[in-house]
Amino acid sequence: MTDVTVVGGGVIGLTAARRLREAGARVTVIAADPPEETVSTVAAAVWYPTHQEADPRVLRWSATAYEEFTRQARDGVPGVLLRRTRMLLRAPLPWWTAAAGDVTTVAGEIRFIAPLVEMSPYLDWLARGLTIERRRISALDELDGIVVNATGLAARELAGDDAVEPARGHVVLVENPGLDTSIRDESRSLYIHPRSRDVVLGGTFEQGRGDVTPDPAEAAAIRDRCIEAEPSLRDAPVIGSRIGLRPTRRGGPRLERAGNVIHCYGHGGAGMTMSWGCAEEVTALALRIS
Ligand SMILES: Cc1cc2nc3c(=O)[nH]c(=O)nc-3n(C[C@H](O)[C@H](O)[C@H](O)COP(=O)(O)OP(=O)(O)OC[C@H]3O[C@@H](n4cnc5c(N)ncnc54)[C@H](O)[C@@H]3O)c2cc1C
Repeated sequence: MTDVTVVGGGVIGLTAARRLREAGARVTVIAADPPEETVSTVAAAVWYPTHQEADPRVLRWSATAYEEFTRQARDGVPGVLLRRTRMLLRAPLPWWTAAAGDVTTVAGEIRFIAPLVEMSPYLDWLARGLTIERRRISALDELDGIVVNATGLAARELAGDDAVEPARGHVVLVENPGLDTSIRDESRSLYIHPRSRDVVLGGTFEQGRGDVTPDPAEAAAIRDRCIEAEPSLRDAPVIGSRIGLRPTRRGGPRLERAGNVIHCYGHGGAGMTMSWGCAEEVTALALRIS
């Protein structure tokens, strides 16, 4: 049995750990922060390969995850939902629609079913049965055996990778007034993603900004834009707002084996979207399955 240490307890690390265990590895996860303090918890966590280059790897990973989340929603995995989605189009059809199941184009928008994940219950489900050590490592070479580096933004230091940088994102949560269809307009950085009890209103994407300072004016502007697109949100009580730092990487995510370390980081605004595809590939690299 192969021993694998996964560093990182966000959606990328936990998904990889789960897949590795399913494939027969003996897995330990090392995570510095509790799940509720990871950027993964902040994510709107809707399947959208957004802000990614048209890269065949991204398409492959996203397609695998789309199928897996669709299966999980049908199996009742905690937090996993499927939502009708209207994406307003002001540009040609996005390159990734080949991975998005049945896509129809209707007067200025595309429609498809998007998997959406409520991260808190979902991360708990992913972590079930895994051995998790809560500690911060200072270097990857402290660890023996096969190591998966799924440390998101921290990979900038741990892997000495200057291509990694934060992209600040701000979302507002309101009570759900009864919506069950997602709306997205990427040209205005606008999205409305109804979950079971609340609705995630987004959002901002500030490349290179690495602080999480609250900004009430920004939150109000996000809410106003969303009300304009969906007036039924006007009376929905505000629950709060969340700010997170997406782990972006120039050139796209890094997923490769270097000696005994498998790097898997830099998923930017699409970590949930690519999670299961990346986990498959990490598993193959770790266990040398071809
Ligand atoms: C506002 C917002 C909206 C988003 N919406 C979406 C969306 O709709 N769809 C989507 O797919 N994605 C979305 N994302 C992006 C998504 O959140 C990220 O791509 C994803 O969470 C990255 O996961 P990760 O596991 O790589 O990183 P993280 O969640 O940051 O996890 C990193 C882990 O590494 C651990 N770690 C770091 N350093 C060390 C160390 N030295 N020692 C031990 N452990 C360490 C941390 O404790 C943590 O457990 C959104 C992000 C934001 C901010």
